[in-house]
Amino acid sequence: MKDKEYISEDGVFKLRVTQSCLDQIKDFCKASPGKETGGIMFGQYLDNHSIASILVISGPPKDSKRTQFSFVRGKAGVQKLVDDNWAEGGYYLGEWHYHPNASPEPSSQDIKQLHKIARDRRFNCPEPIMLIIGGKPGNFSINILLSNSGGELIKYYEHEFNNPG
Ligand SMILES: [Zn+2]
Repeated sequence: MKDKEYISEDGVFKLRVTQSCLDQIKDFCKASPGKETGGIMFGQYLDNHSIASILVISGPPKDSKRTQFSFVRGKAGVQKLVDDNWAEGGYYLGEWHYHPNASPEPSSQDIKQLHKIARDRRFNCPEPIMLIIGGKPGNFSINILLSNSGGELIKYYEHEFNNPG
């Protein structure tokens, strides 16, 4: 199966998401009808940091707060996840969450949260990625955003690129 590739609207950032990660995200969404859900994305930077590659995703920590219109990711077990990924060479790359039966456009809260992660040194991720999946099983759509080092919100578009990684 083929991985999905994206490029930022300014052409600076490239992103690859494995088909397996996308399938896992969709499975979490299917298991959460009518309620937002989400988790963390881990992976690697390739090609001299020009490409972020999402290789591992996690589901909602047990203490997450999930409603129809909001998802506040909990912290239970997160440090262990971060440590385990780190031991395997995996970096924290950002967060994903689900907008059930709705568009994957970010809410103002989503945008605030993304900028907050960018500024929070504990995440050690100055340019975090947010993947939002909207819709429902059989009709999902994906939106990907990044907060760049200048604090701007950058949108990604699906785009195939060639690289040695
Ligand atoms: Zn949202």
